[in-house]
Amino acid sequence: MSTRYAGLIERYRNRLPVDDYTRIISIGEGNTPLIQLQNIPSIIAKDVDIYVKFEGLNPTGSFKDRGMTMAVTKAVENGSQAIICASTGNTSASAAAYAVRAGIKAFVLIPDGKIALGKLAQTLMYDAQIIQINGNFDSGMSLVKEISKHAPVTIVNSINPFRIDGQKTAAFEIIDELGYAPDYHCLPVGNAGNITAYWKGYTEYAQDQGDLKAVVSKRPVMCGYQAAGAAPFISGKMVDNPETIATAIRIGRPQSWDHAWNAQKESAGWFDCFSDEKILEAHKMLSHYEGIFCEPASATSLAGALKDIASGKIAEGSKIVCTLTGNGLKDPDTAINQCKDSHPVTIDATLDAVKKAILDKM
Ligand SMILES: *Cc1c(COP(=O)(O)O)cnc(C)c1O
Repeated sequence: MSTRYAGLIERYRNRLPVDDYTRIISIGEGNTPLIQLQNIPSIIAKDVDIYVKFEGLNPTGSFKDRGMTMAVTKAVENGSQAIICASTGNTSASAAAYAVRAGIKAFVLIPDGKIALGKLAQTLMYDAQIIQINGNFDSGMSLVKEISKHAPVTIVNSINPFRIDGQKTAAFEIIDELGYAPDYHCLPVGNAGNITAYWKGYTEYAQDQGDLKAVVSKRPVMCGYQAAGAAPFISGKMVDNPETIATAIRIGRPQSWDHAWNAQKESAGWFDCFSDEKILEAHKMLSHYEGIFCEPASATSLAGALKDIASGKIAEGSKIVCTLTGNGLKDPDTAINQCKDSHPVTIDATLDAVKKAILDKM
């Protein structure tokens, strides 16, 4: 048998709704690294194990691929010729890529302007039918839900239950790798599909371990973090004009509202929110101290973990996993703005000048 990694459906086939005859649409998603932070815990002077699940290393650069491999596999199995989604960017890039792979059409509704450059470039390259609307993600989402009653298209937003099934495999990977569930799991929350999916994954593993392996069957406390300008889970009601630099979570009307509240309650977890400054600070810390470049929205998970560790809400000795949902290359504009003050020096192309430039910095 080949040991080639074939994608998460192959790996977790017995836990996913596929059978022997299903044609699997895969680009080798999943199996992303779980990286232990080495420098940040000592910088904050706390005895904690923080791991990041770097979902930016999926084929299109975000965790959306986990859900999309399942959603498109099932759409094709059910005879669909076209898929549709509303997106802040990553869902559209992922949908477009998997549609190409399957040989079907992808229609994507994106908000006018507020989409990170890398995501737009990908979606164009994957040759999706892009429909830009004069509105935000939430209005795109309500249009998509309507249109599927009028046109033969399958919705691949996370209201599609197969998306959640694909995404729950990230929790399986974490337990398979650590040998146990972490004490806390921290996530950025936008539409709240991902927090729903992780909770489902942790719960399924815990259920089949039963009481025999108490350590493994334990589930983490789920911590959902939002941007202050797009924080319906904090205010407890929908937000009309969500605003944040973390465009992937610029969502005011989360579609998985009830499921996310359920995850919070069952896990005795919590929601919290952060200013864009705090999010960008965590974004920069990951690059500067750990060599990990994620997108701004992703860093919300670390911003939250750091606050709750500092306050003692997350105790020392805890094992914490933060999901880094997307790759930093998705949003080069924000990254470059983050480093405005570190312009490269320009010097003469001589040995002396280079030598001086190096010695000046030692
Ligand atoms: C989609 C996305 C999120 C939000 O996930 P939800 O399932 O909508 O809560 C966070 N970060 C990135 C990078 C995303 O692409």
